[in-house]
Amino acid sequence: MIEMASTEIIPGIHVVRGRFAGEFGFIASYLIIDEDEVLVIDPGTAGDPGNRLEKSIKNLGLDPKTDIVGIVCTHGHPDHVGGAGRFKRVTNAPIMIHREDAEILQKPGDFLNNRLILNRAQRFSMKLDKGPLRVNFRGIEPDEFLEHGKDIHVGSTSLKVIHTGGHSAGHCVLFDTSRKALFTGDEVNNFPNDPRKFYVDTSGSIVAKLTALETLSKLGAEHVLPSHDTPHIYGDALLQFESVRDGVIHLQDIILTYIEAREEADVEQLVFDIRQARSVPIPQSLEALLTTTVHVTLLGLKEAGLVRDLGKGVWTRIGEG
Ligand SMILES: [Zn+2]
Ligand SMILES: [Zn+2]
Repeated sequence: MIEMASTEIIPGIHVVRGRFAGEFGFIASYLIIDEDEVLVIDPGTAGDPGNRLEKSIKNLGLDPKTDIVGIVCTHGHPDHVGGAGRFKRVTNAPIMIHREDAEILQKPGDFLNNRLILNRAQRFSMKLDKGPLRVNFRGIEPDEFLEHGKDIHVGSTSLKVIHTGGHSAGHCVLFDTSRKALFTGDEVNNFPNDPRKFYVDTSGSIVAKLTALETLSKLGAEHVLPSHDTPHIYGDALLQFESVRDGVIHLQDIILTYIEAREEADVEQLVFDIRQARSVPIPQSLEALLTTTVHVTLLGLKEAGLVRDLGKGVWTRIGEG
């Protein structure tokens, strides 16, 4: 099989594409190369594309041991940081992540323990799962924390760090102001076969996600480069923000409708109802992601004064108007 190590999609920006991971699409790592310096955004899963980064950098005539200025992790999920440890050992480059996601970089097992709502069967099956959320790597210490508003430099390029915190508490995106390219991690478009599909972990926030989408849509980004599947480089950037927002609003509406129909409902009942209605844009392959996302969405609706927690995980609608 002939494999291209990397593809230059915008001058100075290369994508290293990993294997196809079903509903997640292709897992992508990005390289920003300027004046013989390289910044890596999301070293990807342990294995593929993680293991392919070194070769890609060599193929571009650069030295992985001396030319990497940083390994940025948009957030701490296994499909984004799994390759970080190995890549750091090869390059000695600093790993950068936001403080609030550092804990799952240090203790990857906590992704399953703390960041997803899993029953015993789901926990077991996720441990065996060979998908992109597999935790098959050891924890590592971050070297630098990503901070909102700060710039990261690679050659003469500077990237602005924007903390979004919707998909996970520590999620950040990076904006390359000169190329008008936005590296969106999983905040925009994390289920690419329908950009309305999304998931959040228990540390995430629907309110933060909607606020972030609003902010990001006003940056003037011309290229939206998500960590899953296809980079959007043909002027359809705004459409991506709108689609993700549609997905969030739609899920909120659906949850409110089902709670109203049942009068009182718990998360399991809502997940059941949502799965019955096949038209709803939700991740179908991993029920744990849906349960967690519904839970976090309920917390957002509670904050908005639209639902009330009756205790023991039972929710009811607060009268309209
Ligand atoms: Zn993620
Ligand atoms: Zn991801």
